[in-house]
Amino acid sequence: MIDLSRARERMIASHLSRRGIRNDHVVKAMRVVPREAFVEPGFEEFAYEDSALSIGHGQTISQPYIVALMIERAEVQPGDTVLEIGTGSGYAAAVLSRIAAHVYTIERHAGLAKIAGQRFADLRYKNIDVRVGDGTTGWPEAGPFDAILVAAGSPEIPYALKQQLDLGGHLVIPVGPPDEQRLLKVTRVSATTFKEQDLGGVRFVPLIGEYGWHDERAEPRAKQSLRPAPTLSEMVTSAAEPLPAFDDPAFGRLFDRFAGRRVVLLGEASHGTSEFYRARAAITRRLIEEHGFTIVAVEADWPDAAAIDRYVRHRASGMLQDATFQRFPVWMWRNREVMEFVEWMRELNGSREASDRAGFHGLDIYNMRGSIAAVLRYLDQTDPQAAAVARERYGCLTPWQNEPSTYGRAAMTAGFRKCEKAVVEQCRELLEKQLEAGRGSGDELLDAVQNARLVASAERYYRIMYYAGPDSWNMRDSHMFETLEHLLNARGDQSKAVVWAHNSHIGDARHTEMGTAREELNIGQLCRERYGDQAVLIGFGTHSGRVAAASDWDGDMEVKTIRASLEGSYERVLHDSGVARFLIDFARHAPLRECLLKPMLERFIGVIYRPETERLSHYAHASLPRQFDAFVWFDETNPVEPLGPEHTRAGVPDTFPFGL
Ligand code: SAM
Repeated sequence: MIDLSRARERMIASHLSRRGIRNDHVVKAMRVVPREAFVEPGFEEFAYEDSALSIGHGQTISQPYIVALMIERAEVQPGDTVLEIGTGSGYAAAVLSRIAAHVYTIERHAGLAKIAGQRFADLRYKNIDVRVGDGTTGWPEAGPFDAILVAAGSPEIPYALKQQLDLGGHLVIPVGPPDEQRLLKVTRVSATTFKEQDLGGVRFVPLIGEYGWHDERAEPRAKQSLRPAPTLSEMVTSAAEPLPAFDDPAFGRLFDRFAGRRVVLLGEASHGTSEFYRARAAITRRLIEEHGFTIVAVEADWPDAAAIDRYVRHRASGMLQDATFQRFPVWMWRNREVMEFVEWMRELNGSREASDRAGFHGLDIYNMRGSIAAVLRYLDQTDPQAAAVARERYGCLTPWQNEPSTYGRAAMTAGFRKCEKAVVEQCRELLEKQLEAGRGSGDELLDAVQNARLVASAERYYRIMYYAGPDSWNMRDSHMFETLEHLLNARGDQSKAVVWAHNSHIGDARHTEMGTAREELNIGQLCRERYGDQAVLIGFGTHSGRVAAASDWDGDMEVKTIRASLEGSYERVLHDSGVARFLIDFARHAPLRECLLKPMLERFIGVIYRPETERLSHYAHASLPRQFDAFVWFDETNPVEPLGPEHTRAGVPDTFPFGL
């Protein structure tokens, strides 16, 4: 055989070392295994290119870089017992055998297994056992394993493989739809707990077997099975990852799989549900503490959020005229759940250098709610009829509001149009006052450029916002996206952000009636378009319970009973799973994702909830798994706990954002 040792050295330098493979064991092993012995005769000269080569039966020998990456990430050590699924040519098993004490490898094609076995014998690699069969069920008699490597893409993580991992052992497996998977590393932390890490996007041939795909066309097993197909809810039950208590560190850990992304967007199905806030706080705490996220960007007015930002980052108090979050809907931010999170941020930041402190920022059009309050105040005094119209229109600042009677009530009056000039003028004045007040607060994020941008577009913003039509939605979400980009840029190339906003802002609008029927876009869609899979969109939902909401814009907060979700809605399917609180990661459950793609009803509750007209006022059609990458479910939910005067704390410095 020709001597390809120089080509092998080149492969190590350019495909491995330069791409970050540092593990000595891996590099040494790949230096001694002749890859040319594992390709089809006649293809030897291509053996050291960094590509997957055909080995017959429609299968491939994996790219050298991927082989090295998987072994490195599985942390294979001398003395280990390792299981490999998908022997193929036998190359990866051969490399593994040069590190570990013993390698067990399973291949479903008898022809491939036979040739691989012959190659091991020729090379005198005696510590490898090859078996023909379905690797998705593992090799229980030979386990437990220190490492398991799966060389084919699976619709989900086969349960049997997790069970055959030793304590502290690692499973590396590509999971996801046939065209692209995520390479996952699963570590067994205890008998029942596993930690997961996302190593990035990859593309493998399908894993075919009892706990994999049904056949080469990668059909989900459920569709082909002789057993009666499971119902959607049964599929949800098996895909659901139950959520621990909010203060259990395991809660945040479940979301580690998203920690490598640049932007993590967390939704909510109402603006007044305690569980949504607490879950978002638990996830965000973990991302800030362990994974380098330093921006929390929320669906709130910039000036109010800026007061909180000064508090959590221990900055000078820039005196605002009004106390924070004092306008409708007050409970959306002035609640116990947010206060506890804010206190946590302040405490954590106290132990960090100023430049590493995590900030809290508002994404909405500058002072949107403050401006709406000013509009209403003005109209109440000058034209009460126009004020009533404005209230109704602001109540419809939600894209799902379908109620025909609302349109009637919100019809334009002559007075409404006449007031436009004066109202816009008022808003401009308010903006100037607030910018003036914010000056000198040391807030370099709201820098001169951003200020100038705000002032220049204020007139247009306030005019569009005054009418509160469909244009105001797109303007608002584009603005939110631009502000997010501004924040990310201000904190540098490596900055990472968590966004908290309603599902209607976060779930990709192209897969809802907003996008398909009304050409409305949102921040989730814009993030996907800009950041691709560096953005992850996570929706939240509930079946029933109680929620803090008003009946009309500017109305008092009430605790309202949420009606049980409608038959034919996504919420009903999730409820029927019988699991009380869970995460579904659609990338890991391709068959379920597929079955949920066809649009169904989805419920949206904002600051206003009208149970009496619920179907028309709060449900719209959407494709949930296209809107979101993952979904968090709480079957029964409770209202947020609003802060009242009893939360004023004597002796607390005036920097405290919630001080009255
Ligand atoms: N590790 C191999 C190498 O170094 O050449 C490459 C493996 S190839 C990308 C994937 C292999 O997985 C194919 O040979 C395929 O037949 C096999 N495979 C797919 N599903 C399997 C299953 N359930 N059990 C065992 N092998 C399977």
